[in-house]
Amino acid sequence: MTDRQSRAPGQVKEVTSLSNPLVKDIKALAMKKYRDREHAFMAEGLKLVLDALDAGWTIRTLVYAKAGRGNAAVEKAAARTVAAGGLVLEVSEKVLAAITRRDNPQMVVGVFQQRYRPLADIRPAEGDVWVALDRVRDPGNLGTIVRTVDAVGAAGVILVGECTDPFSLETVRATMGSLFSVPLSRADEDAFLVWRKSFPGLAIGTHLKGSVDYRTLDYTTGPVLLLMGNEQQGLPGRLAETCDRLVRIPQAGRADSLNLAVATGVMLYEIRRAALPATPEA
Ligand code: SAM
Repeated sequence: MTDRQSRAPGQVKEVTSLSNPLVKDIKALAMKKYRDREHAFMAEGLKLVLDALDAGWTIRTLVYAKAGRGNAAVEKAAARTVAAGGLVLEVSEKVLAAITRRDNPQMVVGVFQQRYRPLADIRPAEGDVWVALDRVRDPGNLGTIVRTVDAVGAAGVILVGECTDPFSLETVRATMGSLFSVPLSRADEDAFLVWRKSFPGLAIGTHLKGSVDYRTLDYTTGPVLLLMGNEQQGLPGRLAETCDRLVRIPQAGRADSLNLAVATGVMLYEIRRAALPATPEA
C-alpha cells in the first residue's frame, strides 16, 4: 500500500502496530511542536468527541479500540468522521494506550483541527464578558477557566502573550468538553493593547494591589473585559494601566493570593450574577 493510499480520508483501517506511521503521527501530537505544525490536537473519550462534532469542529481522524466495535455511539461517531472526509482507525488497546500515554485509555480519541478566533472578529455585545489571560502557565488553570467561562455563559477567552497551549492533552482534559463551545483568541501584548482600545465596555483588571473591592462595581452597563494576571508575576504594568478599574478580592487568612482559576471563577460569578438564573427553591 502506498503512503498516499494509507492516508486516504473517509476510510476505516485496522491498526495494531505501534510503528504504523499513522499511529506515530498521532502520538506526536502529545508534543506542542507537532500540534503547532499540524494545527491539530487530540480529544479523548466519546463524550468529548461527540461534543466537538456537535459543535462543528473539523475531525481529521477518529481512533477507537477494538472493544468499541458494535457500540452504537462509537459507530455513529465513526460514520460522522467518514462523512466529514476523515479517517477512522480501529486499533488495539496497546496502540490506544501509547497514543494517550495512559494505562487505561478511553475507548475513543479524536484528532481535530485547532481553531482560534482572530481578535479582529470579536464583536463585543451588551452583556458579553471576555476574559483576557496574561501569560497563563498552568494547563490545569487554563482548562478550569475555559470550563468556568462556559458555565457562566461568558463570551470567550483571549490568551495574551506566551501562554500554555490550550490544545495540550492536559488542558483539553481539564476543560471537560467546554473547549469546544468557548471561543479562543490569542495575541501578543502589543496587539492586545491595540485591540483593547476599541473595546466598547469596562476593562476590569484583578490585582493584589487593586484599590476597589470587586463586589462594589456595577458590571451590567455593557460588555466587560476581565484581565487576569500570570500565576507568578500578576498583571504587568502595561496591562494594569490599560484597565478602567483594578479590583481586589478581599482575603482574610494568611494566603498571599488566590489561585488564578479560583480568582477567575469568583470574578466571573460576580460579573455574571444578574445574568445567571436563580435556582428555584426546593
Ligand atoms: N504573586 C502574584 C502577584 O503578585 O500578583 C500572584 C498572582 S495570583 C496567583 C494570579 C492572578 O490571580 C493575579 O494576577 C490576579 O489576576 C488574580 N488574583 C489572585 N488573588 C487575587 C486577589 N485576592 N485579588 C485580585 N486578584 C487576585
